[in-house]
Amino acid sequence: MSTYRYDPLEDRWTIIARHRLKKPTLKAEDIRMVPAECPFCEGNEALSDAEIDASCVHAERSINTSGWINRVVANRYRAVAIETSADVVEEGIHRSMGGFGAHEILIDTTGHDSDLALMSPDETVSYLRMVAKRIENLSQDSRIAHVSVFKNVGILAGETMSHPHTQIVALPFIPSHIASMYEREAVYHRAHHAHLVLDEVAQTIDDETRLIAREGDFCLYTPFASRYPFELRIAPTTVLTSLVYASSEQLESLAVLVHRSVHLMKLVLGEKVAYNMVIRDSIRDDNPYHTVYISMLPRLFGVSALESEDGVSINPMPPEEASKLYKERL
Ligand SMILES: [Zn+2]
Repeated sequence: MSTYRYDPLEDRWTIIARHRLKKPTLKAEDIRMVPAECPFCEGNEALSDAEIDASCVHAERSINTSGWINRVVANRYRAVAIETSADVVEEGIHRSMGGFGAHEILIDTTGHDSDLALMSPDETVSYLRMVAKRIENLSQDSRIAHVSVFKNVGILAGETMSHPHTQIVALPFIPSHIASMYEREAVYHRAHHAHLVLDEVAQTIDDETRLIAREGDFCLYTPFASRYPFELRIAPTTVLTSLVYASSEQLESLAVLVHRSVHLMKLVLGEKVAYNMVIRDSIRDDNPYHTVYISMLPRLFGVSALESEDGVSINPMPPEEASKLYKERL
């Protein structure tokens, strides 16, 4: 299986996973896999890997059969595996660790050609509820320190399967940029007795130029220092460290804004817009100053080394103008 290797210069872990070479890469001509061959389509449950969980139409549904709303399966080309040990090996300056973790696929919907803008409100609430359920389940293993939840939509965003799906990766460490975000949130709280994300949301509401929509406890806006043209952020107006703690009402409001954000990206940037969705959730109670938020990151062009290596983006679209263009399509 795989191994984690630590780079002490860059403070960064890398997963070395040779078997991922076999993973398919999607080309423009085969992006439309036919439903009959699609392992994520309803009726083809035997083609996918082991079912981990599912939201069902009827409670009496048997595992690996049709009759589901969304379904979680193991990733065939998983980068990390729960049965692998997390033993650390130190050799001189080199540190490595067994590829322990979990890599799951949440099949968002039965609709092969659907997406978060086309799913019904009930389907989207069920989807968010399943994300929360998987985060809660994975975080019960004390060896898991972080759960990454993300979507790659379109080839420019790294998509390899066209049927709508979400990846859930549970890791035995907190990636360094996430750990430093938690640290900044804690430092901000010590200085201001307030949550950094909540203050960002409050200022966005006051200023209005980048605010696009409000729904219940959540806001949709273009962030002040947007890294990418037309980047969107969805964040709450109240303390919520993880989706695990969201009420049904909050999940319903969040579903409205998730739907609206993807719908707006498609209206403004085109039906086939490539984007990444990232859910920044904290699974541990020792990050009490974190507030969950969702980033929608349109991928309009390739990423330069200044962005990928040095973390400095060049964005030609001011977020105030992006917000204005989005609001014109509301
Ligand atoms: Zn499909």
